[in-house]
Amino acid sequence: MKTVTIDKNAFRRFVDGIIKQQRVIGVCAKGDRFDFEQLESADQLRLDYDVTLQPPKKYFLPPVETLLTYEVGDGYKSVYDDTEFVLLGVHPYDMVALNQLDKLFTQDNFDTHYMKRRHNATIVVCDVISPSKNVFASSMGTATVKDGFDVLLTDIGNAFVMESGSKKGDSFIAKAQDVVDSSEKDLQARHKIQAENEKRLNNHKLKCEASYLPKLLEKAYDHPVWEEKAKTCFSCGSCNLVCPTCYCFNVQDDVNWDFISGKRQRAWDGCLLDGFTKVAGEHEFRKKRADRFRHRLYRKCKYVPEKISSQIMSCVGCGRCVGACLPDIANPVKVYNRLVDDLGIK
Ligand code: SF4
Ligand code: SF4
Repeated sequence: MKTVTIDKNAFRRFVDGIIKQQRVIGVCAKGDRFDFEQLESADQLRLDYDVTLQPPKKYFLPPVETLLTYEVGDGYKSVYDDTEFVLLGVHPYDMVALNQLDKLFTQDNFDTHYMKRRHNATIVVCDVISPSKNVFASSMGTATVKDGFDVLLTDIGNAFVMESGSKKGDSFIAKAQDVVDSSEKDLQARHKIQAENEKRLNNHKLKCEASYLPKLLEKAYDHPVWEEKAKTCFSCGSCNLVCPTCYCFNVQDDVNWDFISGKRQRAWDGCLLDGFTKVAGEHEFRKKRADRFRHRLYRKCKYVPEKISSQIMSCVGCGRCVGACLPDIANPVKVYNRLVDDLGIK
């Protein structure tokens, strides 16, 4: 795997060259905020962004997608998205989230639709330059990332260090002109930035190790915090919608007016929404808001770690839910710290 240095003007030319060849999605300004969008020119790219409005997961699990079409007597046809694309400027915590989704979408039932898109993507991660006001990735161990990406980009001032993490990354870097093998000085500059990020992306500080959270939650099921916080919850689901690790969806068949053909679609769902757990006969497993509020935070740091790895929390500390919640109750750190204060660490 290669590690090279490219100056910023050469990098801009490189990105413009790739845009001419394939679909490139990168981070662009949206007023005073940022989001991923298809790039038409490298000048639109903002690698100095703080956080994007939406995480990059929508390029792998779209908000609404058609899984298959069918016609009575003619069976069904799966619908796949086969477009290759480059995703440019993913922050490390969002890459950690994608790595989790990869595990979840392949562990029990292999999700071909999600994995086709993953296979078609070249992911370029960039180390954080401007921390967002609600980020707490340092507390969650996700301020830097070691795997999953095809290319890792670090802004070291007047140039970028580009490290390949895969064969796709090798071919991506091979297209760049005017690159040189990274010098020891460049690698040290990158190391310094990453070491600082591991500490400074911490605008909400967790009072325990992230790996302790599953144990903490084991003792907290009947804690009053769930009722207290849920009193002002609107059940709007915004905390689910902006989360890079929320992946729940609903599947629905839409029948055409000919009544013999139609399509099967899936669309994002959210565990905070009333009706998320409603089943036949109008029975609802988590009718109470407090139960739904508790479920999200249990899922993040107990249920998903139990499913994939005790060291991997399903909150990566991006801070998006903190900013998206109008009554200001969604911040996982505030809830977990309250539990640490009341229940202690042991
Ligand atoms: S729970 Fe909130 S802070 Fe954690 S990953 Fe999801 S949106 Fe980000
Ligand atoms: S916790 Fe906040 S963002 Fe989430 S559903 Fe309740 S009000 Fe909406």
